[in-house]
Amino acid sequence: MTDCIFCKIVAKEIPAEFLYEDGVCVVFRDIRPKMATHLLIISKKHIHSIAEMEEGDEKIVGHMVRAGKILLAKMGLSGYIIQINVGKDGGQEVFHLHIHLLSKLS
Ligand code: AMP
Ligand code: ZN
Repeated sequence: MTDCIFCKIVAKEIPAEFLYEDGVCVVFRDIRPKMATHLLIISKKHIHSIAEMEEGDEKIVGHMVRAGKILLAKMGLSGYIIQINVGKDGGQEVFHLHIHLLSKLS
């Protein structure tokens, strides 16, 4: 999607410091952190939202949750909040699938 900010970050057209990257997802810090640690895991595939998942996309979402778990363990954070905003009424602002990882610890 050419007009999607997260697609542009995946394509490295907009700068973001990746804390993690693999073939399926990337992780970087939220530009407006709501807790001491606030990371975003975004899929490399443009999926509009959880509400628009297609068959097979559940593997991507599971992979993203696991990537976050591995990264946060490396960062020494054993407890954290996983949040996915779905749709405008669910507080979603960027319509490209992403998982918020939040912790009061940094
Ligand atoms: P959501 O409300 O779930 O769609 O969350 C979108 C999140 O993306 C917000 O918390 C924004 O602060 C964050 N965000 C938007 N643009 C950027 C960016 N260029 N780099 C990092 N985070 C961003
Ligand atoms: Zn996108």
